[in-house]
Amino acid sequence: MKKISLIIPCYNEEECISIFDQEMEGIIERMQEYEFEILYVDDGSKDKTLQVIRRLSRDRHYVRYLSFSRNFGKEAAMYAGFCNATGDYVAVLDADLQDPPSLLPEMVRILEDGEYDSVATRRKNREGEPFIRSFFARMFYQIINKISDADIVDGARDYRMMKREMVDVVVRMGEQNRFSKGIFGWIGFRTYWYSYENKERASGETKWSFWKLLKYSLDGIVSFSQMPLNLASWMGVTCTGMSLLAILFIIFKKLAFGEDVQGWASNMCVILFIGGIQLFCLGVIGQYIGKTYAETKKRPHYIVSECSDGQVKKIG
Ligand code: UDP
Ligand code: MG
Repeated sequence: MKKISLIIPCYNEEECISIFDQEMEGIIERMQEYEFEILYVDDGSKDKTLQVIRRLSRDRHYVRYLSFSRNFGKEAAMYAGFCNATGDYVAVLDADLQDPPSLLPEMVRILEDGEYDSVATRRKNREGEPFIRSFFARMFYQIINKISDADIVDGARDYRMMKREMVDVVVRMGEQNRFSKGIFGWIGFRTYWYSYENKERASGETKWSFWKLLKYSLDGIVSFSQMPLNLASWMGVTCTGMSLLAILFIIFKKLAFGEDVQGWASNMCVILFIGGIQLFCLGVIGQYIGKTYAETKKRPHYIVSECSDGQVKKIG
């Protein structure tokens, strides 16, 4: 009997979990030919999430959980899930039912056919999202696909189901700055894309503010592309070229017309402009050095303070 593991990252989801659990009960009932494991990852929630999950693991034999010592972020929660899931097929789902569990039977069917190694999901449109947010999101996907090796699909969600072989590779990708959509795209494998209408949260609020998303997308660019560093070099080359032309022009003017060069204001503009570009480029280099620093420390991605069984990797 094949086993399906579901990883559910939860941060302050006390209301959503019971709704999710009820929905899952129905699905598990319908898919009797499979064994299930639902692995809740409590990402340092401040509400009653842990109590709810603890109770569930007592009531249901297929529920496991682990709870972080603090909030490490959704990426760390997913990684902990991948490290500890034991199924032949492993899926990640949000606790808020925005990733409909009703798609699971279809996803398993596609994987069973053997043609694909993973089934990923994307939303059909960005309806219901603020204009600024969807504008920046579209721009982000266009930019990152141009400048990186990772094939990142616009509107892709983290909701996906993978075969064991692919999960093992994801676990091997132990980088600190995790950007899962990029990692999935970078490792390749044959992926089937499933589109569905965007759904509202079952309860509670999104944990992503605009600024958090912006930071996350910039992290994604730095993690998967060295283009910003090349940009710094090219800006340097362009500025040097322009200054050489300006020097030639000034020498020519002095020799031909003997005029003194005027223009304190224009001089200041140029100095400020070049200074700005230099600081910008330093900042870009700093971003990469910062990430390298974080990688070299090799700190764990997560620390588990409580779990349902002894097989859980406490630090990973
Ligand atoms: N989440 C998490 N840690 C965090 C933030 C979010 O584990 O620091 C979980 C959250 O509980 C949910 C999923 O990640 O199950 C997606 O979060 P959310 O619904 O806020 O994101 P959105 O769907 O708006 O992109
Ligand atoms: Mg959500």
